[in-house]
Amino acid sequence: MVEAFAVASGKGGTGKTTTTLALGMALAREYDVTVVDADTGMANLLFHTGLDGVETTLHDVLVGETPVSEAAYDRFGMRVVPCGTSLAAFRDADPGRLRTAVADLAADTDVLLLDSPAALGSKGAVLPVVLADRVVVVLQPTVPSLSDGLKVQEYAASYGTGTAGVLFNRVRDDEAVARIAEQAERYFEGPMLARVPESDAARASRRAGEPLLAHAPGSDAAEAYRRAARSLDVRGGDADDVAARFRSAVIPDAP
Ligand code: ADP
Ligand code: MG
Repeated sequence: MVEAFAVASGKGGTGKTTTTLALGMALAREYDVTVVDADTGMANLLFHTGLDGVETTLHDVLVGETPVSEAAYDRFGMRVVPCGTSLAAFRDADPGRLRTAVADLAADTDVLLLDSPAALGSKGAVLPVVLADRVVVVLQPTVPSLSDGLKVQEYAASYGTGTAGVLFNRVRDDEAVARIAEQAERYFEGPMLARVPESDAARASRRAGEPLLAHAPGSDAAEAYRRAARSLDVRGGDADDVAARFRSAVIPDAP
């Protein structure tokens, strides 16, 4: 069985990579988890996982003949597929190859988390949202962020991708987020997965090159992510069906 989630948001810097790795590590206690840096233009998962020195990344897979297995690393109890940060490699990368790469990974895991690009602005950027079974929407607790997140949900839904849940990150003020969460409950399809606090531990983890749940497992933010993972109802599709769907996906136009 496998379910593919795109971890997405309207804008950058909301904490998608932090969230992808935290949910991944929490889910890895129960499932076989693979996380992929599908944010191929603004890749940063490699810095969050101490993989910035590795030779082979998703970029090599997207430009040529490298099988995705060579860009997959066993780290933190998961399979981690980082992406490089070279602009030239990004320019030469064929986003269409992401379909085959993800299909290959889907054949051999329970949960696939695609750390997705922010802007719904280019063909490559929307692909993870289109390919995934469901999106996890990461929001900062502000009205503009909520409104961006709704656009992501709407776009995803137009391709048959549901919403698995909504997660508020970098929450400072519980009252302010309560008002926004109320609106979010009304407009988003999935459950509110968590309110992750603004956290020094999250920043320190990034600096240390370790996911939050490895670097500061006892922090409030880590606990919020573990709760979020428990609220996520993972639905396993047939792995061969999912892989076939990915392989044959039509690359969409940007919204
Ligand atoms: P994205 O992938 O959406 O661009 P990141 O996960 O890389 O976002 O987070 C952006 C920055 O914000 C990073 O430096 C990260 O350490 C920091 N960050 C993420 N979540 C939190 C949090 N809950 N509290 C404080 N800093 C955070
Ligand atoms: Mg990121």
